[in-house]
Amino acid sequence: MAGERRDLVDSFGRVIRDLRISVTDRCNFRCTYCMPEEGMKWLDREEVLSFEEFERIARIFVERCGVEGIRLTGGEPTVRADIVTLVQKLAALNVDLAMTTNGSRLTSLAHDLRAAGLRRLNISLDTLRRERFTEMTRRDELDKVLAGIDAAIDAGFDPVKVNAVVERGVNDDEIVDLAQFGRERGVEVRFIEFMPLDASGHWVNDSVVGQDEIVETIAAVFPLEPVPARGAAPADRWRYLDGRGMVGVIPSVTKPFCGDCDRVRLTAEGQFRTCLFATEEFDVRTLLRGGASDDEIVELLASAVGDKWAGHQINQVSFTRPARTMSQIGG
Ligand code: SF4
Repeated sequence: MAGERRDLVDSFGRVIRDLRISVTDRCNFRCTYCMPEEGMKWLDREEVLSFEEFERIARIFVERCGVEGIRLTGGEPTVRADIVTLVQKLAALNVDLAMTTNGSRLTSLAHDLRAAGLRRLNISLDTLRRERFTEMTRRDELDKVLAGIDAAIDAGFDPVKVNAVVERGVNDDEIVDLAQFGRERGVEVRFIEFMPLDASGHWVNDSVVGQDEIVETIAAVFPLEPVPARGAAPADRWRYLDGRGMVGVIPSVTKPFCGDCDRVRLTAEGQFRTCLFATEEFDVRTLLRGGASDDEIVELLASAVGDKWAGHQINQVSFTRPARTMSQIGG
């Protein structure tokens, strides 16, 4: 019946409750595991969804399909002009609104984002060493990111989460330093296993530092106890036995959590993806701009989710890298 609530459920019984929206493919950094230094082909302005289109599609997901959480990603979401206005529009849907950012613009934006209704922030920080930061991001902006983390704390985001992608031979010697950073600043560090979504395609399994190794490395210095099950959340979490907070690991490669996956994604140009590693996409933009009704859009989303696969096949012979890089999908 028209206007009726219709949960998005796949053939494994997983119910979609979390939508990741990439609001731009552009970024002010050039992280080596995400983008080439030069030569990225950016989307033309008219290809990218407008704020009204994002608002409409988000409303359909929330009001018609029962989505409870929306995470704004990019590229880098804070380089999208008037991002605070978009946050205001989406916060009006009374949804658990979060953002993943590189943090470099938070000193000027954190308070406004908070006031606009943003509830949670994850800030990417893979190293505390200036030279290495400049090498990994191809930008000398570590100070800005550290100041951005402080601005997020000051604006009242709690907990502020810091995402650190660990790559063997690149920054795995900083696992304890990053954990210590989290303990000192009162932020929750999430270590992320390196995934095969890098633009240069140099990902190999040997470059992955797995969850067990990360946890052992930290626990050898700061004793930990595991926090019970995570539900659909991507991170496993541990509590420091001395009460100095929590730490998490997102073990996408070594301990895939696809069995509990409740996430789907929308790219900046309105392509619907049922998985981060999906090799197939569904064109929502054409429906949005072609006068389709909400029911027709719900129909497309429901049939796409109905065909959602069990999970990524990393390290299996059947694994195919998506045609898009991380910056073109959104974290
Ligand atoms: S890899 Fe795909 S199916 Fe697995 S948890 Fe991530 S988005 Fe879900």
